[in-house]
Amino acid sequence: MKQRDFLKSSILVTIALFTALIVNASEPQTKTATNPEGVVPAEFPALPYGYDALEPYIDARTMEIHYDKHHRAYYTNFVNAVKGTALEKTDLKEIFATISKQSDAVRNNGGGYYNHLIFWANLGKGSAAPSKELSEAINSAFGSFDKFKETFNTAAKTRFGSGWAWLVVTPDKKLAVGSTPNQDNPLMDVSVLKGEPLLTLDVWEHAYYLKYQNKRAD
Ligand code: MN
Repeated sequence: MKQRDFLKSSILVTIALFTALIVNASEPQTKTATNPEGVVPAEFPALPYGYDALEPYIDARTMEIHYDKHHRAYYTNFVNAVKGTALEKTDLKEIFATISKQSDAVRNNGGGYYNHLIFWANLGKGSAAPSKELSEAINSAFGSFDKFKETFNTAAKTRFGSGWAWLVVTPDKKLAVGSTPNQDNPLMDVSVLKGEPLLTLDVWEHAYYLKYQNKRAD
């Protein structure tokens, strides 16, 4: 493939993926296994689609390893970390609000368990504009939808090492974009970025390395 064509197709992939993310973020989420309210469930929640559902943007093998190895390990390690403690019956969001007082195992695995559920629920294939309400909020916060995409992509690309990019509703009810390191999230008391997650992007290398290698921006 010529360099120019490659760049063009990379941009299309980014736009398509981003549009897909927005579509799902703008739809009301029903209370399913991928809506992580409450305590940790007894069963590892199912992926809401097949491993190949996001081809060609995210390949099936990456999805399989990401969900069945990485995400499952966070879930299992989190279950084991809270087993027999008061946290076993504590709402995840309450745990995150006091995460500075919890063990590294609870912080890293609780975050890893929760963040991936938001990520899977956000992703989907297709394209459409965000809802009117979200669109107005985005324009008001970032100037335009394109400016928002640029801000979100920059947050994802510039997170040093492993972590997550986020669109959140802040405690004062405004939209904000930022990133968190490792498996932290904006619900944690240790996070600089604070708010209720709407949209997230996993920028750990395990999320893209098989297909895109070092090219996180792609
Ligand atoms: Mn991941």
